[in-house]
Amino acid sequence: MDLSFSAADEKFRLEVREFFASEYPADILAKVQNGQQLNKADYQRSEAALNDKGWVAVNWPQEYGGTGWTATQKFIFDDELERAGAPNVIPMGLLYVAPVIYTFGSDEQKKRWLPDILASRTFWGQGYSEPESGSDLASLQCKAERDGDDYIVNGTKIWTSQGHYADWFFCLVRTDNSGKKQEGISFLCMDANTPGITVYPIITIDGSHYLNRIEFDNVRVPAENLIGEEGMGWTYSKYLLSNERTSYAHIAGKRADIARLKEIAGTIQSGNRSLMDDPAFANKLAEVEIDLTALEFTALRALSSVAAGDAPGEESSALKILATENAQAITELFLEASGANAVPFFPDRSDADWNDGSGIPAFAAPSTASYFFNRAQTIYGGATEVQKNIISKQVLGLS
Ligand SMILES: Cc1cc2nc3c(=O)[nH]c(=O)nc-3n(C[C@H](O)[C@H](O)[C@H](O)COP(=O)(O)OP(=O)(O)OC[C@H]3O[C@@H](n4cnc5c(N)ncnc54)[C@H](O)[C@@H]3O)c2cc1C
Repeated sequence: MDLSFSAADEKFRLEVREFFASEYPADILAKVQNGQQLNKADYQRSEAALNDKGWVAVNWPQEYGGTGWTATQKFIFDDELERAGAPNVIPMGLLYVAPVIYTFGSDEQKKRWLPDILASRTFWGQGYSEPESGSDLASLQCKAERDGDDYIVNGTKIWTSQGHYADWFFCLVRTDNSGKKQEGISFLCMDANTPGITVYPIITIDGSHYLNRIEFDNVRVPAENLIGEEGMGWTYSKYLLSNERTSYAHIAGKRADIARLKEIAGTIQSGNRSLMDDPAFANKLAEVEIDLTALEFTALRALSSVAAGDAPGEESSALKILATENAQAITELFLEASGANAVPFFPDRSDADWNDGSGIPAFAAPSTASYFFNRAQTIYGGATEVQKNIISKQVLGLS
């Protein structure tokens, strides 16, 4: 196993670093640095800057506008993006639905949807989970009944990330109830402006509007919006979920957070020394940094198997758990470093200017909200308990 980068890869890294330093919108980097939430226009500008460079559709095949990069180049790109403090692209269109469209969609569907996703002219929402179907997704009940050239959709989707930004939804819907539950599921795309679709905000414990509940009330959807074959939605959705991102670990972002924590802790007084010299705090910080290094090597091992042509196996479940726990531990340390300044709670972080003379340091203002929001990492992308099931099945030879 070779975990080192080639000279060509290192040259590529410098090119990416230079792009973020000189061509990428500096005001978006500043907003992220100040803990402010980005709005839809920010994401559009961010993705447009990447698209101008030909770097927005990192995983797509070149014929549809992708980069044609190797797995290592993709890893380096994500690493540099996070190191610079730039936001990841909104995944629903570019990372999730587009590969399903170019793999299983018709030529007409590719022409209709891919160019708009590439140019960030349309944002998508992922309609999988339902109030009674999460980990056991195949039990979903949102129904699509054929009526002439249309489907009539009725049901509820929930926890739809940034669904209020979406121009389109891709949904798993039930088209048949007669056989195995997986076999009656289809993959349907819907224009968000279709009559009968209502998006309700869910305000989370951090005070932000990120999640939504979507009600479908007799929504008439043209049958031409069905991807592939009716009843094959489960297969397509598994493909979507297995569209592995070895960069899921977000290592560079975490490294930058730890470096910032050290810097901050060096300036905070704790008794007669700085917080950085407080053994209890320094210990916790060191543990988090050691865990991050272990995570990095796990990610590189997964990358090394991808580069060797193997699918990343249950490493991805281990990665998910390690990355989640590490991210949560970092937010806890930010909270600790913030001390009393973490107490004021700022529910709307969108337009906040933390250097507003309130005396609350920029790093501390969003720390409570960030701590709360990151609890959700244990749930999304496959809950921790479910990942542990996958690992134990593998270890016990039960799969
Ligand atoms: C921030 C956030 C963003 C999300 N974005 C989207 C989105 O854009 N689109 C979308 O469709 N969904 C989205 N989700 C939903 C997410 O996929 C589900 O919350 C997740 O699949 C868990 O389902 P659930 O909430 O119904 O919990 P449940 O499945 O009911 O789980 C409840 C608890 O039981 C445990 N559990 C469940 N099954 C087992 C088992 N077999 N063994 C052991 N323990 C088990 C779980 O680990 C969990 O602790 C998002 C969720 C969050 C928190």
